[in-house]
Amino acid sequence: LDYVEGQGWHDPRIVPYAPLSYDPAAMIFHYGQAVFEGLKAFRTESGDIQIFRPDQNAKRLNRSSERLNMPPIDEDFIVNAIQELVRVDADWVPSKQGASLYIRPFVIATEAGLGVRPSSRYSFVVIMSPVGAYYEEGLQPVKILVESHYARAVQGGTGGAKAAGNYAASLKAQVLAKEHDCAQVLWLDAIDKKSLEEVGSMNVFFKIGGEVVTPSLSGSILEGITRKSIIHLLNDWGIPVIERKISIDEIVQAYENGTLEEAFGTGTAAVVSPIGSLLWQGTPMVINNGQIGELVHKLYDTITGIQYGRIADKHDWMVTC
Ligand code: PMP
Repeated sequence: LDYVEGQGWHDPRIVPYAPLSYDPAAMIFHYGQAVFEGLKAFRTESGDIQIFRPDQNAKRLNRSSERLNMPPIDEDFIVNAIQELVRVDADWVPSKQGASLYIRPFVIATEAGLGVRPSSRYSFVVIMSPVGAYYEEGLQPVKILVESHYARAVQGGTGGAKAAGNYAASLKAQVLAKEHDCAQVLWLDAIDKKSLEEVGSMNVFFKIGGEVVTPSLSGSILEGITRKSIIHLLNDWGIPVIERKISIDEIVQAYENGTLEEAFGTGTAAVVSPIGSLLWQGTPMVINNGQIGELVHKLYDTITGIQYGRIADKHDWMVTC
């Protein structure tokens, strides 16, 4: 689908996978005017294909575009386009448990121009790839590096949007995390490096002294669709989730006095990921003896149960293809 100022979005088409060709001066190559989404299609045991909450991804794509001064796309169009594409390549949706079809919609600035200003032309593209189970051998607790030097996003910046540039800003720290044998980085706020923000590609939750808490949406955190769904499930079970500022000092204190019961990340890729330890200023804080917590287990089983059609979808989260 293409956009030209004055003409709007036009020319929707499904074409065989091939390289895209743009002018070397296309603004995407220079000013990072690009936003994207990530969602998955699942094959149920009866063979049906269903997508998890695509309407939410469509909404978030437009919110991200708005922040980068890019034009919105009709949300029903986005959902229908994704459904149609999945239908065309239905064979690509794996039937193996845990595997799925990852769908990547994105919008890029395509006008050729070297001045810094919003582009007058855009392309909306959707690509897809089958992906294996994130946890081949069942849930595995991960080690996370609490990043105290680099920042991913600032207040008033683009952190709340799924903008390509946010990920560019995170690569250096991601490499450092790997060097410390950590799966991902836990970001702190950019100003005083105290408040927890989110993990590389996940939002983060803690169970402290029987209470479930998650960082409030500060403006520099991505509002995860899994996060929203997890909060919904926990509320269904009568477990309130407190969205508030959480400082790393509070986590250290809870760890030291033995009230840090569980920690986990949530996101499209891993769904729910138990955090086994946090590496903070060179010292690991092992959570729940490095074991998978009860809550994480139940959440993982429930959300994947809904996605693969084993558990009734009472919230109407799944959209059939
Ligand atoms: N934070 C960031 C920075 C992410 O890239 C993602 C993955 N999209 C998330 C959180 C989790 O969001 P979601 O649950 O919508 O996948």
